[in-house]
Amino acid sequence: MFQNLKMKFFQFMQGRYGGNDGLNIGLLAIYLVLAILKTFIRNGFAGWIIYLLSMAVLIYSVFRMFSKNIPARQAENAKFMRFWYKIKPKLVLVKDRVKDIKTKRYRTCPHCKNVLRLPYKRGKHNVRCPKCGKDFSVRII
Ligand SMILES: [Zn+2]
Repeated sequence: MFQNLKMKFFQFMQGRYGGNDGLNIGLLAIYLVLAILKTFIRNGFAGWIIYLLSMAVLIYSVFRMFSKNIPARQAENAKFMRFWYKIKPKLVLVKDRVKDIKTKRYRTCPHCKNVLRLPYKRGKHNVRCPKCGKDFSVRII
């Protein structure tokens, strides 16, 4: 009986995308974030919007799994991965800033936009950017 069901499922999935890709992992992560948010915001319009968004994300992810248009799903995934590789360093930076909040401060060089990781010392300091070699002053409060 179970074996039969498994066979049927396998046949059903034949020629379908399956959704085993970066975009579906991303969608799942967004869904989880929304689901967690939903536990904090239970009521009112905001809660309803979050619920709708989470359902839309879930439906889109399921749609991708069962889709037979494999080239379209692959193109979507490639687009998402390009976007992901662009935002990933920014997310890592946010994570580091939170992690180092007690000992370090992050400042952007006004000349080359390089991000410097400075020791947390209050006051005005002169800093030399290691990337472009120019000096600038930072205020750490
Ligand atoms: Zn610089």
